[in-house]
Amino acid sequence: MARVAVVGAGSGGLAVAARLAALGHAVTVLDQAPEVGGKLGWYVRDGHGFDTGPSLVTLPQLYRDLFAATGGPLEDAVDLVRVDPAVAYRFADGTPLSVPGDAARIPAAVDAALGSGTGTQWAALMARAAAMWQVTEQPFLRSPLAGAATLARLARSAADVATVAPWRTLRGLGTAYLRDPRLRTLLDRYATYSGSDPRRAPAVLATVPYVEQAFGSWYVRGGLRRLAEAVAQRAVERGAVVRTGTAVERVLVEGGRAAGVRLAGGEVLRADVVVSGADAAALYADLLPASRATRGVRRDLARSTASLSGFVLLLALRGRTPGLAHHTVLFPEDYDAEFDAVFGIGRHRGAPQPVADPTVYVSAPDDPATRPDADSESWFVLVNAPRHDPDGGVDWDAPGLADRYATRVLDVMARRGLDVRNRLRWCVVRTPADLERDTRSVGGSIYGTSSNGARAAFLRPANASPVPGLFLVGGSAHPGGGLPLVALSAEIVAGLVGPA
Ligand SMILES: Cc1cc2nc3c(=O)[nH]c(=O)nc-3n(C[C@H](O)[C@H](O)[C@H](O)COP(=O)(O)OP(=O)(O)OC[C@H]3O[C@@H](n4cnc5c(N)ncnc54)[C@H](O)[C@@H]3O)c2cc1C
Repeated sequence: MARVAVVGAGSGGLAVAARLAALGHAVTVLDQAPEVGGKLGWYVRDGHGFDTGPSLVTLPQLYRDLFAATGGPLEDAVDLVRVDPAVAYRFADGTPLSVPGDAARIPAAVDAALGSGTGTQWAALMARAAAMWQVTEQPFLRSPLAGAATLARLARSAADVATVAPWRTLRGLGTAYLRDPRLRTLLDRYATYSGSDPRRAPAVLATVPYVEQAFGSWYVRGGLRRLAEAVAQRAVERGAVVRTGTAVERVLVEGGRAAGVRLAGGEVLRADVVVSGADAAALYADLLPASRATRGVRRDLARSTASLSGFVLLLALRGRTPGLAHHTVLFPEDYDAEFDAVFGIGRHRGAPQPVADPTVYVSAPDDPATRPDADSESWFVLVNAPRHDPDGGVDWDAPGLADRYATRVLDVMARRGLDVRNRLRWCVVRTPADLERDTRSVGGSIYGTSSNGARAAFLRPANASPVPGLFLVGGSAHPGGGLPLVALSAEIVAGLVGPA
């Protein structure tokens, strides 16, 4: 039995704690925040409740695996509901497209909304994405990153390489398969699920809409937050100790090996294994003493582009909106302008900015647990935003900026047909700077490093660090961000540590 210290009680830290405790290790989880969950957060006021981070679960099988491996079915712990329709899109020309929650019905819905033949084009793209999924799931997503060995696993056959087309971007793939520009916009949006730019992210990200459509979009009744609580409870049931309000100041390294952690206030917790669920950039910059062993990782991190962040409005509304879908996306006229502004490229070269005319995502669960009465709604509104970077980019703490931008987002929504300005009880604004303060993700980047560039997936920090005994879990490490991949990272780390 090893003594394991887990830094961070986000989705990654909690999942690995549950798995390692179930394997018989003595696990202590430490989080600087007052509550568990990290980005999977919850805000409640006057009976209005909001998930402040994730609003969509995909690949629930990965959470089923986690619960099965740690003592009992997921469905006993949370109430998963399949969302149908999955998303109601509105394109810049006003065309609506409601994407069914069942993959078999999607081509017909696309045809009906965008014209005959478009559904077939989408189905052909999804067939290619299914093949990409087959090729990459086991050797890449479910396996530790291991440099040349990973590349060799991925390049087993020329046919597999041609399927994944590592030289191609997501935008390039969309252009090859989809003739309707609205459908290409829809595909582009999936680059943002890993905080990336579709013009630079790899084509293999087409697997993101594939898994969403093939395995469904899911909601957790009572809020996704319940998933974090359920994993934390599972970890505790298996014997893990969870300490909130406890910041880790340093990962201790002795004789070249991880030896424990030092907490703010000086307490030292000795451990045989340390698993960091904190942002990988923060781990390598602040928590770990700089050494020759970690120089390569720090160089890779410096070469990577940080993922985008998000600007969030939590809207407490009077009244109900007839026909409102669970998830709504309102697209702008110029999607490329959004990525230029967020990443400070193209026309915004060197100067990232809040997006002037952003894509707006609204999540409005029809769930009594989220509202004070039947005549109210609680909306989570998210737009892509540049990370918080007072030194060279956007200073989200600049006086007045957050409120001015919130007003702009509400105006954009009104122009695109969702005007809630006269139904507003109150609005809470959460900027990338708030996300950084709450979760210590550097700049409030949602997914650590982005997938921009063909090599990005290989520059992402590996789960086994160069320091023996120190492992990385969570969205800023391999295989990437989002709840399903974070669950996979926990499975990989538990496999690397092994049973007691
Ligand atoms: C607005 C938003 C919307 C999103 N939407 C979705 C979605 O719809 N679907 C989806 O699948 N994913 C979504 N995501 C992404 C998803 O939330 C993340 O990928 C996932 O929750 C990351 O989990 P994590 O454990 O890696 O990191 P975190 O949740 O960031 O956890 C890290 C934890 O470490 C703690 N910590 C950091 N440093 C220290 C320290 N020094 N000492 C102690 N504790 C420390 C932090 O307090 C935090 O609790 C969204 C994220 C955001 C922000």
